[in-house]
Amino acid sequence: MDRVDITILGGGPCGLFASFYAGLRGMSVRIIDSLPELGGQLTALYPEKFVFDMPGFPKVLAKDLARDLIAQGTQFDPELALGETASELIEDEEGYTLVTSSGNRYPTRTLIIAAGAGAFSPTKIGVPGEDDFVGRGISYGVRSTEAFRGKRVGVVGGGDSAFDWALHLLDVAESVDLIHRRDVFRAHEDTVRQVQSSAVNMRLFRQVKELHGDDHLQAVTLLNSETKDEDRLEYDHLVVCIGFKSSLGPIKDWGLTIEKNQIVVNGQFETNRSGVFAVGDVATFPGKLKLIATGVGEAVSAVCFAKTRLDPSAKLFPGHSSDLDLGAVGQTP
Ligand SMILES: Cc1cc2nc3c(=O)[nH]c(=O)nc-3n(C[C@H](O)[C@H](O)[C@H](O)COP(=O)(O)OP(=O)(O)OC[C@H]3O[C@@H](n4cnc5c(N)ncnc54)[C@H](O)[C@@H]3O)c2cc1C
Repeated sequence: MDRVDITILGGGPCGLFASFYAGLRGMSVRIIDSLPELGGQLTALYPEKFVFDMPGFPKVLAKDLARDLIAQGTQFDPELALGETASELIEDEEGYTLVTSSGNRYPTRTLIIAAGAGAFSPTKIGVPGEDDFVGRGISYGVRSTEAFRGKRVGVVGGGDSAFDWALHLLDVAESVDLIHRRDVFRAHEDTVRQVQSSAVNMRLFRQVKELHGDDHLQAVTLLNSETKDEDRLEYDHLVVCIGFKSSLGPIKDWGLTIEKNQIVVNGQFETNRSGVFAVGDVATFPGKLKLIATGVGEAVSAVCFAKTRLDPSAKLFPGHSSDLDLGAVGQTP
């Protein structure tokens, strides 16, 4: 593999904006992501939710925001290494080499880690046969509400995701039940009120005990934790929203200073390892906010500091993009 100027580990919103800015500054770029598609949490966790705090967008669906971030982030043709988890970081004379789970070695001059919460996996309900029904009636989020049209759906959980999905799915599903083990919720009060006054059936003090079906989920046995009664209810789909486990995994072994699962950076968004920057949810510093609006700003700064690291004659300030002719991509402003 060729050595690139900058490798971006993580293709979420912050990694994508870093990719755009690095391209704008004439740097060669590679994005590595363990997921098969770009977009990070926007694509993987909440594609159908509206985001209200993007500058210039009073309201935008997460999947539409991801689509446009991807278009912008890939406009300078970065090399993409998707479906590969970075497991090792080896320092060499010209920078670093990242080794991925597939055994590929990716040399780079600088590195921006935009790994979010790290590689994440959904928390499972933990009943026998659960894995066999994944993609055949059980999912841990909603990729497209259309798949639920006319179906009987059970949403498991008591937090924002569960309540939001229960409301959204009412628009398309035949019926929606919200299954929660208690009568106390972690969701926003207003959303709880909306769900309670909607057609969603609240199945409280219920836990999923058994799954039934052959090729596809057909029914679920719910255990009432108060009375110990069991009910068998017919569902075509269970949407399990009881959280995600995330871990920085191998990144923790890269000799970086880590605090509470986040990488400590200085005012230039550089880690304790020279030429290795961290931005977005994965980075921490005094006053850190885990938001897209602030994370993409961190990405711009990190790229500009990486640029001056590689080319000391380059200005830190990138100039105004409105002054550029983006037809002439690849030119260093
Ligand atoms: C339900 C929900 C709603 C939200 N709503 C909002 C909102 O309204 N406004 C807002 O500003 N923020 C919101 N957020 C938070 C926002 O999504 C995050 O702040 C944002 O996604 C962080 O972007 P990122 O690029 O830092 O990381 P991520 O989006 O997490 O992307 C990180 C990427 O790195 C990859 N990765 C991690 N480790 C490795 C590895 N070792 N090798 C290869 N790839 C790796 C992951 O696969 C992932 O694709 C919400 C979050 C959730 C869960």
